Amino acid sequence: SKWVYRFGGGEAEGRATDSVRLGGKGANLAEMAALGLPVPPGLTIVTDACTHYFENGRQLPDGLQSQVLDGIAAMEELTGRVFGGKSKPLLLSVRSGGRASMPGMMDTVLNLGLNDDTVQALGHDAGDARFAWDSYRRFIQMYGDVVMGLDHEVFEEILEDEKARLGHEYDTDLSAVEWQHVVTLYKQVIEEELEEVFPQDPHVQLWGAISAVFSSWMNPRAKTYRTLHRIPEEWGTAVNVQAMVFGNLGSTSATGVAFTRNPSTGEKALYGEFLVNAQGEDVVAGIRTPQSITEEGRLASGSEKPSMEKLMPEAFAEFKAICERLEKHYCDMQDMEFTIERGKLWMLQTRCGKRTTRAALKIAVDMVEEGLITEEEAVSRIEPPSLDQLLHPTIDPQVERQVLGSGLPASPGAATGEIVFTSEEAVAAEAEGRKVILVRIETSPEDIHGMHAAEAILTTRGGMTSHAAVVARGMGIPCVVGAGSMRVDARNEVLIGSGGVSLRRGEVITVDGSSGHVLKGAVPMMQPELSGDFGKLMQWADRNRRMTVRTNADTPQDARAARSFGAEGIGLCRTEHMFFEGERIHVMREMILAEDEQGRREALAKLLPMQRSDFTELFSIMHGLPVTIRLLDPPLHEFLPKTETEIADVAKAMGMPPAFLARRIDAIHEFNPMLGHRGCRLAISYPEIAEMQARAIFEAAVAAAKETGEPVELEILVPLVSLRTELDYVKGVIDQVAADVAAETGTSINYLAGTMIELPRAAIRAHVIAETADFFSFGTNDLTQTTFGMSRDDAAAFIPTYQRKGIIEHDPFISLDFDGVGELIQIAAERGRCTRNDLKLGICGEHGGDPASIWFCEDAGLDYVSCSPFRVPIARLAAAQAAI
Ligand code: PEP
Ligand code: MG
Repeated sequence: SKWVYRFGGGEAEGRATDSVRLGGKGANLAEMAALGLPVPPGLTIVTDACTHYFENGRQLPDGLQSQVLDGIAAMEELTGRVFGGKSKPLLLSVRSGGRASMPGMMDTVLNLGLNDDTVQALGHDAGDARFAWDSYRRFIQMYGDVVMGLDHEVFEEILEDEKARLGHEYDTDLSAVEWQHVVTLYKQVIEEELEEVFPQDPHVQLWGAISAVFSSWMNPRAKTYRTLHRIPEEWGTAVNVQAMVFGNLGSTSATGVAFTRNPSTGEKALYGEFLVNAQGEDVVAGIRTPQSITEEGRLASGSEKPSMEKLMPEAFAEFKAICERLEKHYCDMQDMEFTIERGKLWMLQTRCGKRTTRAALKIAVDMVEEGLITEEEAVSRIEPPSLDQLLHPTIDPQVERQVLGSGLPASPGAATGEIVFTSEEAVAAEAEGRKVILVRIETSPEDIHGMHAAEAILTTRGGMTSHAAVVARGMGIPCVVGAGSMRVDARNEVLIGSGGVSLRRGEVITVDGSSGHVLKGAVPMMQPELSGDFGKLMQWADRNRRMTVRTNADTPQDARAARSFGAEGIGLCRTEHMFFEGERIHVMREMILAEDEQGRREALAKLLPMQRSDFTELFSIMHGLPVTIRLLDPPLHEFLPKTETEIADVAKAMGMPPAFLARRIDAIHEFNPMLGHRGCRLAISYPEIAEMQARAIFEAAVAAAKETGEPVELEILVPLVSLRTELDYVKGVIDQVAADVAAETGTSINYLAGTMIELPRAAIRAHVIAETADFFSFGTNDLTQTTFGMSRDDAAAFIPTYQRKGIIEHDPFISLDFDGVGELIQIAAERGRCTRNDLKLGICGEHGGDPASIWFCEDAGLDYVSCSPFRVPIARLAAAQAAI
C-alpha cells in the first residue's frame, strides 16, 4: 500500500481534500506545492501508518521504509543536498499533523540529520559555524527530550550554568566554540542519564523521530485534548518530513505566523507576527515578543520595532500576494506559517484559521458580501455552540476602570474571578464552584485543564499567537496575553500591577479580553449587542430553517430574554417554578398540608390570582406567539421542608405544632418520587389543582387578549402521561373549565390540549394517545431517564466513568441517544401522525438546545424545538444547518 505522499518542486501527490489520510498539515502542504507556491520539498506519512503502528505493538508497517527513502532521494534531488552528506547536508523537520489541528499537543523534531560531521559541513555551507553549532545543540535538546525521553529541563539547566559560567545574559551571546562545548555537555548528560549514546547515524535519528511522533499521539496531553474536543482516537496522526529552511541565518532571515484576516475581530487586513533571526517554534513559544508583519499593525500596537513590510519589503510583497491567493483558493481565512531564509520566502503551513466567534461572524458576512461564499455557506460555517461567546456580558463602558495593567486583547469577553497561579488550583477551585482567573507568565499545553476551569486567562508574556491566546480563543474564554507591565511572582503568589500594586492569590480581578485591560475587583457588565453581523447571519439562518425555535421559560425575565434572542414562543412553562417564590410557597404548603378537598380548595383560591397574573404577563410578553403551559408536575413533598430546623421554622410560620408537620411530611414521603405521585397523577388524585391552574390560564388568556388585542395562541400540556385514559380525564377537567370561563366572561379562547411524551409507554401507544392529544411535546429528560432506567439526578455519579471506559460516548442527558430514545421519538412521531396527520410535534427536554439533537429532530420531522433562553440563538442556527 501507499504509505507516503510526496510534495515539492511545483508538484504533489496529494491534495487539500485528502486530509483524512494526509492530516490537515500534509494535505495543505500538498495543495500549496501543487499551486506552485514556494514550499520546501517533503513527504507525508499517512495516518493509516499511525493506526498500524498502534495496532501492531508499535511496529512501523512493511514497505514504509523504502517509500520514505525514495521520498528523501527526491528531496535530495530538489534541494541539491544529501541526507547525512559530508558536504551540503540535507536537514529535516519531522512534525505531526492530524486530521484536526491539536496545537502543541504532539511532538516535533527539527534540524534532524545533524551529527559531528554534518555540523561541520553545515557551518561551512552557511559560512556560519555559530549557527551550525547552535542548530546542533537545539537538535540534541529536542531529540533528547522527544525521542530519548530526557526531560528538557536537564538541558536548560546545563545551558543556564554555562551562561552563568561564561558571564553571558542571552543565548545569542554564545560563540561557536561555546556552543560546541554545550553540545559536548549535552551528549555527556545523555550518556550519563540514559546509558545510551546520542545517535550519529541520520537514518537512525529519522526512524527514532518518526516513531516518537506516532507515539506522541497517545501522550496524556494529546489524549486530554482529544477528549475535550471530541477527536476520535482511531484517527491517528500523519507525519510530515520536510527539508529544513532556516529563519535563524542572521538578520535577513526570519520566521512568522500570519492570518489573512484578524482572527480576533475578523477585520479584513493581513495580520501577523514575526521574529528576525529565529527558528519556527520561537514565535509560538512566546519567549520573545514578536514584531508585527504589516506597518499598519505595528502602528496599531504602538511598537517601536520595525514591521516586516519595512524591513523585508520584497519578501513581504510576495507573502502578501500568496496570502490573497490562498484565501481566494480556500474561500476562507487562512492561518499560515512561513520562514524567510536569507531573503527567500518559504511557506511552511496553511490552514483555515481558528477565530473568535465575533471574527467568524464578521468574516462569514463579509465573504458573502465579497461574493466569495453563499449565505447558506456562511450559515454552515458558524459552530452553533460558539454563539454562546457573544451572549455573555462585556464590561460596561460607562464604568470607571481601575486598571492594574494591560496586555494584548487575545480573546474577547470579560470575566471576573479570584487570582490563581496554577492550573491545579484552577481545577480545584472550579470543582468547589469558585470562579477563578488563571494568571501565568505563559501557558503550555500542560495547562489545558486549568485553562478550561478558569473564567479567563492572563499571561505576562507572549503574543497574539502564543499558546494561551490560541487556546483561549478556541475555548471562547476571555484572555489577555503579554501584559508586560505586570509581573507574576509565582513563588510568593502575588501579581504585581504596573503601578506596583500587589495582589495576592484569591484577590478578585476582572480581565477584559476585548480591550486587554486587567481591572481591580469585580466590574459591572453589560449585555451583549445582538445586531450587526450577528443579526444578519441569524436572519440568513432563519430563512433556511424549517423548524421553529421556542423557549423554556417560567418567568417574565426568561421570556423577555428569550424574545430578545429570537424565540418564537414558549415551548414549556414549568408552572411549579412559579410556586417556589416568596409568599407563594406558604400558600402552596397550606394546600399540600390540607387534610381534605375543602382545605385544598381554600388554599388554591389564594394561589389563583397569583398564577393568573403570571400568565397574563407571559402572554403579553409573547404577544400572539404560541405559549405552552404545563400543569403541575413534581411530587408535592418537593415543596415541603426537609431538615429538622426547616421543619421547626415552617411549623412556626404556619402556626402548627412541628410534630404535626413532621407527621404530614412523613405521610406523603415517597421511596422513589421520580416514579411516584407526580405529573398527571396529581391532577387525577386532586383535580381541583388542575381546575385552579386551568382557570388561571383561561382567565389570563381573556385578559391578555383584551389588553393586546390579539388572541393568545394557547397550548396546555399534561405531564407524565402513559395511558390515554389519564389524558382523557385531565383534558375533561380542562375543557370543563374552558367552558365555564367562556360562559362567565363571554369570551371563548381557542386552545390545544396536548401531552408530554416522556415515558416509553406513551411513545409506543402514541397512535392511541393522539386520539385525545392535539400535540406532543417530547420530554427527553424523563424519556432518557425512563428508557435507560437511569435516574437523571444520580447519573452524574457514574456517567463520567462510563465515558472514560468507552461504554458510552456522550452523556445521554446532554446529547440525545439516537439509537434508543431517538427510536422511541421516531415511533411516537410516526404513530401519532398516523392518527392525526396535523399532530404538532415539539421537544422541550434539555436536548432541544443541543445541536446534534436538533439535527435529529429535523430528521424526525418535528415542528419545533424548545430550549433555555441563552440557547435560542444556538438552536436557531443548528436548526438552519440541519435543514440546509
Ligand atoms: C422532560 O422531562 O424532558 C421535561 C421537559 O420535563 P422536566 O424536565 O420538567 O421533567
Ligand atoms: Mg419531565
